[in-house]
Amino acid sequence: MNPIQDVLIVGGGTAGWLTAAFLAKQLGTARGGVRITLVESSDIGIIGVGEGTFPSIRGTLSAIGIGEARFLEACSATFKQGIRFDHWVRPEGTPGHDHYFHPFSQPSQRPGAPELLPYWLRGEAGAGRAFADAVTLQKAVVDARHGPKRAVDGDFVGPLNYAYHFDAGRFAALLAEHGQSLGVKRVLATVDRVDLDERGAIATVHTREAGALTADLYIDCSGFRARLIGEAMGSPFKPLNDVLFVDRALAMQVPYGRPDAPIASCTIASARQHGWIWDIGLQERRGIGHVYSSRHCDDDDAERVLRRYVGPAGDALTPRKLTLNVGYRETQWTHNCVAVGLSGGFLEPLESSGIGLIETAAYLIGQLFPFNGDMGPAARHFNAFMRERYVRIVDFIKMHYALTQRRDSAFWRDNADPSSWTGTLTDKLAMWRARPPQRLDFITDVEMYLPASWQYVLYGMEFKTDLGAATAALTRADEARREFQAIAQLGAHALRDLPPHRALIEQMLARAGMKSAATQAA
Ligand code: FAD
Repeated sequence: MNPIQDVLIVGGGTAGWLTAAFLAKQLGTARGGVRITLVESSDIGIIGVGEGTFPSIRGTLSAIGIGEARFLEACSATFKQGIRFDHWVRPEGTPGHDHYFHPFSQPSQRPGAPELLPYWLRGEAGAGRAFADAVTLQKAVVDARHGPKRAVDGDFVGPLNYAYHFDAGRFAALLAEHGQSLGVKRVLATVDRVDLDERGAIATVHTREAGALTADLYIDCSGFRARLIGEAMGSPFKPLNDVLFVDRALAMQVPYGRPDAPIASCTIASARQHGWIWDIGLQERRGIGHVYSSRHCDDDDAERVLRRYVGPAGDALTPRKLTLNVGYRETQWTHNCVAVGLSGGFLEPLESSGIGLIETAAYLIGQLFPFNGDMGPAARHFNAFMRERYVRIVDFIKMHYALTQRRDSAFWRDNADPSSWTGTLTDKLAMWRARPPQRLDFITDVEMYLPASWQYVLYGMEFKTDLGAATAALTRADEARREFQAIAQLGAHALRDLPPHRALIEQMLARAGMKSAATQAA
């Protein structure tokens, strides 16, 4: 066993450069530690979508040493405070609530106050007040298009929890520049052959332009192609199309038309007959895409649906078509090869798990890094952890579909049919019919989504938990009602304190001597 001295990353998208930068920081590349080389093809582009993130991204940016203003400017980034789900419960035009919100902030819970969920279930928050809106003030802030923080707050902190929307191409470019400043060597070349040794480990990676490259550890970030982990190592892919149906996307970049247009501070996920549309506001444009199931709808229909949503602003635009490999590899690290990003798996974009999974994988590789070359134990732990994380994300995403009351197309009827649910999701929903989700239902380090996220979506989808005899134990209704009132009042205060979203971005950039993409374009 030889100590690991050289790491070769194949692929220069978000997965490749995020992993490179993270490991360079962690392993001290610039200070003479492990050497990291990243090879990327100039013929094969990056996927170029993936504009919505999860709050963990703030910790990752901070860990790799990219400041918040630099990131906002370089990536046309904006603040994301959660996801608004339109028409998921029932189709557009039907009476009743047509949207709910999944905020990133946790329920407000003052010390000594009762847990609010059981009281909300008993109707103490007032009729028609959704759970997430009753227990956090974030929906009020997002509805008014205000930001989650003030310009004077420090980098990556603020009163409300948040992530970002950003331009994926610009993000990869920023990471590439930053990664190289941390000592990562960049090679522009296309891998065209991989040799394995007698044990089945990677011996050499051959490129067209830069010849043979060798390393002790190979990280496959080659996207859906999975050049190393799939094509060379043959690690099986577990498809999940029978659970998560959407497998196609049409994406457009739609300019606002005026530089001062207000920017939404959440992703809008708007359900359609055979899938859903994402709508993400950046500084000078929106990223809008229709993800749909090719089993239920053809591409022309899907494009008509997208165009109807975008309106005249999209008339001159041609959408990009993408085919999605939905599923993951149960073995993501085998011998001296580990997959990060789309080469390891992909579970549709609904809750922005893609970049979150890249962050998890990069962090785990850094933590488990087998400096002495003994990769077996690290690989087994990595595989077990990632498998469990995928299993739980699948349940979380499927829950959004499973609880729909829509029956207006085969897509929604098939999703609501329990035979398309995983056994673990079926069990969870059965438990939660008699009591709400609780902390110990989750193994928190493995979960990407905290218990509150499950509760926001579950009750946003109008799931019914019948507390039965347990209501007798709810003896603090007066206190709970006061808490609900206090949270509503805090929402009003927050709007005075937190600036409008676009103004926040301009103020933060001005303080750093920078300009937004919208100002630069104007
Ligand atoms: P890519 O971006 O595809 O990069 C692959 C790299 O490998 C490229 O640099 C390419 O040049 C290189 N390469 C390939 N073959 C070779 C070769 N033979 N030799 C050398 N180099 C090679 N995630 C989120 O978190 N939030 C979202 O909102 C979100 N939305 C999405 C929407 C859609 C429609 C899709 C498809 C994905 C979405 N994702 C989202 C996932 C996200 O886009 C990806 O997780 C992320 O961009 C990482 O991609 P990647 O780096 O693995 O692959």
